[in-house]
Amino acid sequence: MALTDIQDRLRAAERAAGRAEGSVTLIAVSKVQPADRVEAVLQQGHRIFGENYVQEAAGKWPAWRDRFGPLQLHMIGPLQTNKAKLALDLFDVIHTLDRPSLAQKLASLQQARGSLPQLFVQVNTGAEPQKAGVLPTDLTGFLRDCRAMDLSPVGLMCIPPEGEDSTPHFAMLARMAADHGLSGLSMGMSGDFEAAVAHGATHVRVGSAIFGARSYA
Ligand SMILES: *Cc1c(COP(=O)(O)O)cnc(C)c1O
Repeated sequence: MALTDIQDRLRAAERAAGRAEGSVTLIAVSKVQPADRVEAVLQQGHRIFGENYVQEAAGKWPAWRDRFGPLQLHMIGPLQTNKAKLALDLFDVIHTLDRPSLAQKLASLQQARGSLPQLFVQVNTGAEPQKAGVLPTDLTGFLRDCRAMDLSPVGLMCIPPEGEDSTPHFAMLARMAADHGLSGLSMGMSGDFEAAVAHGATHVRVGSAIFGARSYA
């Protein structure tokens, strides 16, 4: 099975990097996958999933939570401010805190609710104009502003530019996290999760290597 293959490869990557067994969280990215593929992975006992779209996740995960019990859901896609409230009801971790307006929205929701999911700040390590994320040069100021609003991000997340070697981006993200005293590193996908583990990833986000190719109908 694809899931056990990926789990084996992840454990091997942890060993190769001298990291403790099980120290890296495997997020199975289930966006737009057919229900039977996701249920097969749930049947195998996996309980940690990632989704990109709030609406899509809201349509399928409450029923799976009822059926399969406690799950950990990670929001890994761009989060619109007007969907933030719904996202808080659904997700345990948000990896895509990427701009001041979203930080403000989350801060006000935290005031009202008294709690928030764990937060990662998405960094646009390649400074790509079309990509979400805080620019590396803006990160220090952004984190300071977050903390001033009582938000306490636990780590950083990146999506390296497509078609480029990911490793310099992983190294950059790890350095920035260390500089800011953040322990979480969300990086690595199907094609490069082992390299991400070698660079200190604490969370890898693996979709197609577990579920098969996505088809956007
Ligand atoms: C879709 C997605 C993934 C998973 O990608 P695969 O290449 O299928 O493993 C990981 N991270 C983010 C942010 C994604 O949008």
